[in-house]
Amino acid sequence: MAATIIDGLALSREILDELRAETAQLKQQYGKAPGLVTILVGDNPASLSYVSRKVKTALELGFHEVQINRPADTSEEELLQIIADCNADPDIHGILVQLPLPRHISEKRVLLAIDPDKDVDGFHPMNLGRLLVGGESITFLPCTPAGIQEMLVRSGVELDGADVVVVGRSNIVGKPVAVMLGQKGPGANATVTLTHTGTRDLASHCRRADVLIVAAGVAGLVSPDWIKPGATVIDVGVNRIGFNEATGKAILSGDVDFAAASQVAGRITPVPGGVGPMTIAMLMRNTVRSARKHLAEQASGDRG
Ligand code: NAP
Repeated sequence: MAATIIDGLALSREILDELRAETAQLKQQYGKAPGLVTILVGDNPASLSYVSRKVKTALELGFHEVQINRPADTSEEELLQIIADCNADPDIHGILVQLPLPRHISEKRVLLAIDPDKDVDGFHPMNLGRLLVGGESITFLPCTPAGIQEMLVRSGVELDGADVVVVGRSNIVGKPVAVMLGQKGPGANATVTLTHTGTRDLASHCRRADVLIVAAGVAGLVSPDWIKPGATVIDVGVNRIGFNEATGKAILSGDVDFAAASQVAGRITPVPGGVGPMTIAMLMRNTVRSARKHLAEQASGDRG
């Protein structure tokens, strides 16, 4: 039987509707909208496309959206000054610096310069540390892992006690999603295995997964015989495998052989239309949460 498709686009629309209502409520209560700044350095076509999708979504929700686009030869000092200005701006509640940055700029220095309380991407080491501690300490969850967890929960996938296998250990996807799903609590409490290029016999690990999350960036890495029948497969990979002259767009593929895997898995995410839209929805959710916190603090400061 063919797997049920986990429709990330439909789920993300559901979340964006909730956030639109929350944004309207914040505007009514405080007279201000959530403020998001998107900073893009250079003209990498993939980055341009990601940023414009984020900007479009923020505007649709009614955010105060500030776009800062700078040429590729912008200096690190200049970028750090832009971030310092955004840190100090009370109308900005979320700062997003689109990665990758040009080579002459240190991503590490730039990410460290963002106020952790405006770090809506959740990449600052302070926020990754808070994630490790868990519970009340968490301020911002990184967007792609949060989107994965949210889509699993909203699709009714049982995580309590489940065997979850994550392929890939990057700081933005693999490591944080492994930590999140292994936390004690609802929507988590799984037994997690984190795999990578040093893993011996990757296929055997994948085969025992109730939930298989693949974030390697290798097209077609996971073949159907690596999937336990009925398992849930979350394909994070976005690989450009060609160019469609007719549409003028890149042809994208995930890390999983989707057509064949759909015959074995119980549930599966498509690429595109799976994790990608959920990532953007989580960025918006982080911004709304940040705005709520900052606006409440400002209001109590004004009263005090
Ligand atoms: P990354 O930083 O390149 O890390 C890739 C990870 O996969 C590494 O840990 C690497 O292992 C592991 N890996 C690579 N090939 C492998 C193999 N053959 N067997 C086992 N492990 C392997 O990647 P990333 O930034 O996490 O992104 C991963 C993919 O997700 C990319 O396609 C990216 O475009 C996509 N992505 C999508 C979204 C979205 O919103 N849809 C967001 C972020 C990323 P080692 O550590 O041993 O090198």
